[in-house]
Amino acid sequence: MATPATRRQFLQAVGVTGGAGTLYSTMGALGLAPAAQAAPPFHAPRESDFTLTGRARKSVLILGGGIAGLATAYELGKAGYRVRILEARQRPGGRNWTVRGGTTETDLDGHTQRAAFAPGQYLNAGPARIAQHMVTLDYCRELGVPIEIFGNQNADGYYYNENVGALSGTAIRHRTAKADVYGYVSELLAKATDQGALDGYLTADDKERLLAFLRNFGAIGPRVTENPAASWRYTGSNRRGYLVDPGAGLEAGTPNLPPYALSDVIASGVGQYLSFEFGWDQAMLMFQPVGGMDRIPYALERAVGRGSITYGAQVSSITNTTAGVEVVYTGPDGSSKVATADFCVCTIPPQVLVNIPSNLTQAVKDALAYAVPVSTGKIGLQYGRRWWEREENIYAGITNTNMDLSTIWYPSYGYHGAKGVLVGYYNFGANADLYAALTPPSGRRGPSRRA
Ligand SMILES: Cc1cc2nc3c(=O)[nH]c(=O)nc-3n(C[C@H](O)[C@H](O)[C@H](O)COP(=O)(O)OP(=O)(O)OC[C@H]3O[C@@H](n4cnc5c(N)ncnc54)[C@H](O)[C@@H]3O)c2cc1C
Repeated sequence: MATPATRRQFLQAVGVTGGAGTLYSTMGALGLAPAAQAAPPFHAPRESDFTLTGRARKSVLILGGGIAGLATAYELGKAGYRVRILEARQRPGGRNWTVRGGTTETDLDGHTQRAAFAPGQYLNAGPARIAQHMVTLDYCRELGVPIEIFGNQNADGYYYNENVGALSGTAIRHRTAKADVYGYVSELLAKATDQGALDGYLTADDKERLLAFLRNFGAIGPRVTENPAASWRYTGSNRRGYLVDPGAGLEAGTPNLPPYALSDVIASGVGQYLSFEFGWDQAMLMFQPVGGMDRIPYALERAVGRGSITYGAQVSSITNTTAGVEVVYTGPDGSSKVATADFCVCTIPPQVLVNIPSNLTQAVKDALAYAVPVSTGKIGLQYGRRWWEREENIYAGITNTNMDLSTIWYPSYGYHGAKGVLVGYYNFGANADLYAALTPPSGRRGPSRRA
C-alpha cells in the first residue's frame, strides 16, 4: 500500500461501496457511532405506569369473563382503572372450561349432563395445550399456576385409518409410520438426485451433501455401484420398533420388519399426520396447567378480585354515548339492569356479539359477521384401569384416525394412577355436527362417564 488511508478516507470508501447501512455499522464497530440499541424487554403495565394524578380513576366495563376479558381486567386493574366484568355464565373462563366430577351443563337443546369423574380426574373440554411461545405461560408464571408437559405427539401412539387399501384397519404406531414415510421419501429423493433428475437445481456438491443427509434421515442403504435400482434402498430399521424388545445377554431384539410396502404406505394416508407437529403452535414441548386448564381463569379471578365480576349477567344491548358507554344486561335475578362506564372492552365472541343490539358502526357489524363459528366436539371417558399405559405403553399423546371421531387423547397427568380420563373423541366440523345431533344418554350414566 503506497499511502496509508486516513480513517475518513476509509469510511468514505465503505460508504460508497456498501451504502449507508454498512457505513453506520462500520462506524459502530470503530466506536464512532452509538451501538444499535436492543428493544427494551416487554413488561405488562403496572400501576405506577398510569398514575392518574389529580384525576378520578376511569372506569371500564368488560363484557365477557373468558380468558380475554379476565386478562384485560387484570392488566387494566394493575394500571389503575376501575374495572367490572359482566359474564353470562356462573364461572370464569368461557371456552376455557375444565369438567370434573359434579360439573353440570345444560346444552341449547335442553339436555342436562352431569359428569361423574372420580376425584382428581378431569376433562379439559375447551383448550388443553399451550405452546412455549404463548403469553399464556407468562401469565402462569406471574400468577403462580404450576404447569406440566402436555404430550401432543408420542412415538408410541397409534394411527388408524379405514378404507385406505391394504393397511385399512391396521393400528400403526407413530414411530413405525414415521420410519416408513421418511424412509421411502428419502429413497425416492435419493434415487432422483443420484440419477440426475435434479441436476438443474443442485450442484455436484449439493447432491453429495443431500444424499448424505437422506441416508441418515431415512435410514436408507448406500449407493450400489452401477445398480441404480438397488441403490439408496429403504428396507426398514429398528426405528419402526421391535417385535421382541432388546434384552439382556445375547437378546439384541427383533426389529419389526419388513416395512410396509411403499404403495400401501402412501395409500394409508398416515404420512399426512406427521406434519402436524411442524405447526408453529403444535410442536413439542407443549404444556398444561397442573390440575386442569381452568386453573388459569380461577387464578385471574383471584387476581382481579371476585367482587369485580358479576356472574349470571347476560348483556342484551351496548350503546356508545357521549359520556362513555351504556350496557343493558339481564342480572342474576332475571331483572333488566343498566351499567355505565367511561370505556368498554367487549370480549364477547363476534358471532354472538353480532346479534346483540348496539350502535356500533355498520363497518364494525360487517366485520363481526365475517367470523364464522366452527363446530368441535369432545367426550371424556373415565376408565377404572389405565390400559393404554399398562398394555400399550402409551403415556400421553394422541391417536389420529380418519374415522368420524378424528382423534383420541391419552391423559398427560395421573400416570400410573388407578383411573384415567381419555378424550374419547375430539373432532371438528361436519363430524362434530354429526355427534352434536345425537341425544346424550339419559339417566345416571351420562356421556362423560365410563366405569
Ligand atoms: C374445543 C376447543 C379447544 C381449544 N384448544 C385450544 C388449545 O389447546 N390451546 C389454545 O391456546 N387455545 C385453544 N382453543 C382456543 C381458546 O379456547 C380460545 O381462543 C379462548 O378460550 C377464547 O377466549 P375468549 O375470552 O376470547 O372467548 P370466550 O372464552 O368465548 O369468552 C367469552 C365470554 O363471553 C361470555 N358471553 C357470551 N355472550 C355474553 C353475553 N351476552 N353477555 C355476557 N357474557 C357473554 C361467555 O360466556 C364467555 O365467558 C380451543 C377452543 C376450543 C373451543
